[in-house]
Amino acid sequence: NGALYVVPTPIGNLEDITYRALTVLKTASIIAAEDTRNTKKLLNHFEITTPLISYHEHNKMERENQLLEKIKRGESIAVVSDAGMPAISDPGYELVQAIIAADLPVIVLPGANAALAALVGSGLPSTEFYFYGFLPRKKKDKEKELNRLKSMQATLLFYESPYRLKETLKALKDQLGNRRISIARELTKRFEEYIRGTAEEVESWANDTNLKGEFVIVVEGSTDVESEESNNWWESISIVDHIHY
Ligand code: SAM
Repeated sequence: NGALYVVPTPIGNLEDITYRALTVLKTASIIAAEDTRNTKKLLNHFEITTPLISYHEHNKMERENQLLEKIKRGESIAVVSDAGMPAISDPGYELVQAIIAADLPVIVLPGANAALAALVGSGLPSTEFYFYGFLPRKKKDKEKELNRLKSMQATLLFYESPYRLKETLKALKDQLGNRRISIARELTKRFEEYIRGTAEEVESWANDTNLKGEFVIVVEGSTDVESEESNNWWESISIVDHIHY
């Protein structure tokens, strides 16, 4: 029976592919990949010869229909992104949505994902967390988004490119205050490391470092209970009461 398999791929260390991922990639009739050249290297490494087609930002609508037709005919299709879990700051979500809308099965394989590894390795509370992904590039938009997140008590997770890391760390310090931050760098790779400290400490580390590689920023949630939005309604209600009486 036809299905869409969402298959996570390694975020650095090739040993993080799962046995099940390899089986699905081998037996699928076609693999839809964010970048076929990139995925070709992965397939070559594991001696997988399943045909590839591209599925990315610019052809996704057209591809969704083609893939949907194949699944309807009983084919198993795998979707992968360049690294980690498809649909997490990567293409995939619209395809999943299209398959669900057609009442066809979507099977998601668990596997490598940078945000979850960074969260657990940060040592910050993992009970409640909020994955944001990439903040907007423009300073104003970035500040606006950070203000929106400011009162959340959940641990906050961001992806960031090495080119914007310093700027983003400064914005985090300016907008959220001197919170605890953990930076996970080059997860699963040879130079994997965690930089843990206050926003000020982490910013000064970044200013003294040649920032190469891939980074996840994990930020402590708000510890200011009063600032939670859910508490504010009470104040406005009491004002209304005064007017009444
Ligand atoms: N789909 C991927 C996942 O499941 O993690 C994320 C893709 S997103 C386009 C790429 C971003 O993820 C990078 O800019 C970086 O912030 C983060 N990332 C990916 N691999 C990483 C690694 N090995 N170490 C640290 N961060 C990583």
